Amino acid sequence: MKALLSDAAERAERYTSSIAGRRVAPLPEDVDRLRVLGGPLPENSSNPNSVLAMLDDFGSPATVASTGGRYFGFVTGGALPATLAANWLAGAWDQNAGLSIGSPVAVKIEEIASEWLCNIFGMPAGCGVGFVTGATMANFTALAAARHALLKRAGWNVEDSGLFGAPVLAVVVGAEVHVSVLKVLSLLGLGRARITRVPTDEKGRIKPEDLPAMDDRTIVCLQAGNVNTGNFDPATEICSAAHRAGAWVHVDGAFGLWAAAAPARSYLMNGFCDADSWATDCHKWLNVPYDCGVAFVRDAEFLRGAMMVSAAYLQTGNTREPANYSPEASRRARAVEVWAALRSLGRSGLAELVERNCRLAQRFAGGLRQSGYTVLNDVVLNQVMVSFGDAETTGRVIAEVQRDGTCWCGGTQWHGNTAMRISVSCWATTEEDVDMSLAAIARIARGVQASTGAT
Ligand SMILES: *Cc1c(COP(=O)(O)O)cnc(C)c1O
Repeated sequence: MKALLSDAAERAERYTSSIAGRRVAPLPEDVDRLRVLGGPLPENSSNPNSVLAMLDDFGSPATVASTGGRYFGFVTGGALPATLAANWLAGAWDQNAGLSIGSPVAVKIEEIASEWLCNIFGMPAGCGVGFVTGATMANFTALAAARHALLKRAGWNVEDSGLFGAPVLAVVVGAEVHVSVLKVLSLLGLGRARITRVPTDEKGRIKPEDLPAMDDRTIVCLQAGNVNTGNFDPATEICSAAHRAGAWVHVDGAFGLWAAAAPARSYLMNGFCDADSWATDCHKWLNVPYDCGVAFVRDAEFLRGAMMVSAAYLQTGNTREPANYSPEASRRARAVEVWAALRSLGRSGLAELVERNCRLAQRFAGGLRQSGYTVLNDVVLNQVMVSFGDAETTGRVIAEVQRDGTCWCGGTQWHGNTAMRISVSCWATTEEDVDMSLAAIARIARGVQASTGAT
């Protein structure tokens, strides 16, 4: 065991220490070589050292270097050193975090991490918290609580009776709702097309004056952090209108909630604490390894109502049983890395991480404007959108940037424009990473423009 784990540590250290120097997207030939890992199911056993060596030799080169400092695709984040180390130890523990009898340590750490997260986001103490795989499942979990609460008030037990014949619920979302919320609405039987989409403004924020009439059978989904602009819906106004009507307000804050951690950005979160439920990711801005999302529900009773399990053999006592707060039963102890991240960063380290990423996003925007390109958004957080001209030119620049390998950025459509999307979410990103990426992007864009004859 000792030789095997030392070998794993050595290989992992080699991987992390070489990441800054390697290309971000793997070469197509390295992806091709993954074939070696396949073939027919082996008939005979092989020794764990050779299994690990194979995984490293063929797997490592085919990874996307998203834990390095120059991956700006989606909203990703890397893994802080303390969280990677904690992940290994928790892997050795191999705890089943679904029940307290299965893992007192996982359950206690989950409670501590929940308290710390609620404190960071300014949520009411005692709200219900569920640890899940990501923001998609966090949205699912929180909206299942919303469905439970509104139907219970209407005299309907949705967990027992399902949705056939149930009182009808209305769902209101912004025009730029994240696709994960739509998927979740489909999973919950609320329907992804049976919704009212409220128009958004030039920054991607819901226009409160366009909200439809709401009542106590309405769920309103707000966004803290638009995936394109990084902007936030006007929560204060919408929460008070929704609550006057008896509606439920849910917040998709996969990355945006973390603005609360940085004093200079926390104004963006104004009013969001008035909501009834929230979803966020820890594998994005908190920089823990995959996978970790968290659902919060103001009234824990509604979350338990939606998620409660009981069976004679599931021994439960007075402790908080994680399986009653999330869809899964058996699962890994994913709060361990959250605890390690917050324990190692502290409040000030977390604030610095968020603020530094935002500052680096502004550095990107400044550099791109200086090179003559159009930054399409007001960079309030960690998201930058840039256009290099028409859709075809911008599309070619994005494809070339991805092929070049210095950095990695994705594409998007924004209010009729094709844009390259830059998201700065990794603890490892430095000013040098941004400058190196800016130089590569400008070199590529000049090349594309020269070849198309554009100016
Ligand atoms: C990433 C993201 C999600 C989905 O999160 P997963 O962790 O991929 O499930 C939902 N909403 C927003 C705003 C996001 O950025």
